[in-house]
Amino acid sequence: MTRHSNGVQPTVLVVEDDPSRLAEVLGLLESTNFHALSCTDGNAVPVVAVEERVAAVILCGDGMIGGVALGRRLRAMSALKNVPLLFLTDTNAGFDVGAAYALGTVDHLERAHLKYTLAPRLARLAAHVQANGDHQKWFNPLDRSLGEYGDTTGLLGFGDIGLAVFDLRTETVACDPVMARMYGLDVDQAQAVPADTIRGLVHPDDYERTMAIYDRASAENRIAEVDNRLRTPEGGWRHVLARSWFEYDTHGAPVRMPYITIDATLLRSTENAYRQTEQRYRKLIESMEDGFAIVDLIEADDGHIVDYRFAETNRAFEQQSGLRNPVGRRIRELLPDIKARWFEQFEQAARSGGFSRRSTNNPTRNRWFDVSVTPIGEPGSLQMAVLLHDVTARKNNERDLERFAAEMVEADRRKTDFLATLSHELRNPLASIRNGLELLQPTEDDAKEDNSRAATWAMMNRQLGQIVHLIDDLLDIARISRDQISLRRERIVFNAILDHALESVQPLLDTHNHVVDLDLCDPPLPFDADPMRMTQIIANLIDNAAKYTPQGGRLAIRTWREDHTACFSVSDNGIGIDAEDFERVFESFVRVKRDDSSSRDGLGVGLTLVRRLIELHDGCIEVQSPGVGHGCTFTVRLPLAQDPAKGAEDVDAAPIPIPSDTTAAHTSATAQTLRVLIVDDNVDAGKTLAFVLRRSGYAVHLAENGAQTLIVASEVQPDVVFLDIGLPDMSGYDLAPRLRKIDGLQNVIIVALTGYGSATDRERAHAAGIDRHLTKPASLAAIREMLNEIATQ
Ligand code: ADP
Repeated sequence: MTRHSNGVQPTVLVVEDDPSRLAEVLGLLESTNFHALSCTDGNAVPVVAVEERVAAVILCGDGMIGGVALGRRLRAMSALKNVPLLFLTDTNAGFDVGAAYALGTVDHLERAHLKYTLAPRLARLAAHVQANGDHQKWFNPLDRSLGEYGDTTGLLGFGDIGLAVFDLRTETVACDPVMARMYGLDVDQAQAVPADTIRGLVHPDDYERTMAIYDRASAENRIAEVDNRLRTPEGGWRHVLARSWFEYDTHGAPVRMPYITIDATLLRSTENAYRQTEQRYRKLIESMEDGFAIVDLIEADDGHIVDYRFAETNRAFEQQSGLRNPVGRRIRELLPDIKARWFEQFEQAARSGGFSRRSTNNPTRNRWFDVSVTPIGEPGSLQMAVLLHDVTARKNNERDLERFAAEMVEADRRKTDFLATLSHELRNPLASIRNGLELLQPTEDDAKEDNSRAATWAMMNRQLGQIVHLIDDLLDIARISRDQISLRRERIVFNAILDHALESVQPLLDTHNHVVDLDLCDPPLPFDADPMRMTQIIANLIDNAAKYTPQGGRLAIRTWREDHTACFSVSDNGIGIDAEDFERVFESFVRVKRDDSSSRDGLGVGLTLVRRLIELHDGCIEVQSPGVGHGCTFTVRLPLAQDPAKGAEDVDAAPIPIPSDTTAAHTSATAQTLRVLIVDDNVDAGKTLAFVLRRSGYAVHLAENGAQTLIVASEVQPDVVFLDIGLPDMSGYDLAPRLRKIDGLQNVIIVALTGYGSATDRERAHAAGIDRHLTKPASLAAIREMLNEIATQ
């Protein structure tokens, strides 16, 4: 559309797509009272005609863009149903004059005579329109505006738009039904409402502002946009948005102000609700103890995040981050040395479109934070919400707990060390006592003479055995805790182990007068285990059963097989165990309290040791009891030997070492031929052992330190040396090789007799050339057995 003049005179729209013809028509129109507007696109004509409120349309040429068809389309528009149409054709040929005139308010001109006919025919048509009242109708502002309104709302699809025309000359307002309703007026009486009535509806606070906008728009011929409140019939206030424009007479005075109004109450309440939400959100964010920020990420050309700018932060964020007034500033500006990992977290969140969290610390402020980052906005948005949660207190607690746990572990380790040292230290005096007791063992004649002496000796011997047993258990617990126990597994059968275990607890069974029932499966169950440790396990369980069963009780030992598992149980009809103590009894130093306040022997380490030894054998143990006073059953499960076919009968005959024994001595016939040198800085222990061995017929010599040993050894040329490892001037490991260098002692048998009994101790002794090993306090039976063996070699 092209506007060819400017002003308040009526406009005529020329529809022509040929430039030279258009120029001709426009030239002719210059001498008329009409302002010309041209349009070269037929489809745009109806819209342009309505929008520009044209006074007439000149349609050039039938069959081209203008013509009868276009005339019909214009007439179909309610706003154009009376607008004068002037058809302009080259000749009459092909022009359907009848169809054109049927459209009403029409004239037809031929191009050849145009320069003579255009101006007068246009004037005549205008006069005719005016004479028939059509002109008035056409220029009736309400009628015209409502027509536009209908078309416009049809286009926009809105319903609640009110339309009115304020006639400035008559000071009246004509309203369409929607506007009438908005004003609370009766629709029938809304055609000439006094303008003051309408002005009176404007909220007093908005009045002056509204009038000022109209005055300015009218003076400047601009569209006025007003946002104000109108009183509703109910006495409330309605928010409206109005747009108006002005029409002027030929002298430039404003005559009409058509306007459209939209009820904005809903819009306003939505805005209010939004504002309230916004305020609530701000309040929440501000009151949060967590730091909160919204940042806009800044990407490099390669897509990596290289910086970010703070769009929003709360107070806590500034406090926690230590960044002052960050909003609007970039992080690299605030912290030029910021670590790359910050950007990595943002990149990760941006890539995944999801939440990312990590812990970080601020070393300068000595605080820990959980930093959460989550993208906000559209997918792929580079805007992120950042939450800083101060977890310093939690981290401190965790650190305290860790330190506490480490201290506990350390305390436990020191306790274990202490027990190990104590037990170790007790071994030497016990060895002396044991040897002394052996020496004092009454003969049959003594017993006949004074029975009480024999009974006292037996009691002392038994109690000593008890103490040695406890100390052995404590040392074993310490070794297990330090991972110092290594099993010497071999193929064994349960029955053989049981014999040895029963043998060691027989005195206790006898004292308590218990009966033991055996129910052992046939063939006996073979498994791969350390025979010494298995004997220890079974003896411990039978020992407990005997201890915790009143006099004359009944014990039962059963074995059976479950698939690939060898099972055995030790039951008794004793004091039983409460179900809530089933687990506790396996813990170190736990002794279940009894109502009968009966006190019994024991430190509460036996079952701990049993369970740990069984676990070392890949097995498990559990206890069941029908309740206190009804006895209990300990059941052990161990993996059956992988290849059970490998002769159980072979292993039946295998010798089983016995842990400790005070059985009587067997003196070898060749004892007299052996010279024994005992090296021990514990003089009592050395002397008592010497006494006993001398009584058995050995030639025994003593030395208390390394230097003395070397002198005595070269003098007496011993066959066997019992060597303590911890000597005052040198260790037994150093002494052993020097002994061998003495003339004639290259093949001397050196036996370590020491409290150091772990596998590593034994290996070290072996490396130093020590032949055999006995752990203190070694039983005399074991020492004699070894000497016998050596003598018969
Ligand atoms: P203790 O040296 O006290 O016997 P244990 O570790 O061998 O230590 O046993 C721990 C506790 O378990 C015992 O003090 C006892 O209360 C309970 N207990 C063990 N065996 C039996 C049993 N056969 N009958 C009843 N109570 C038992």
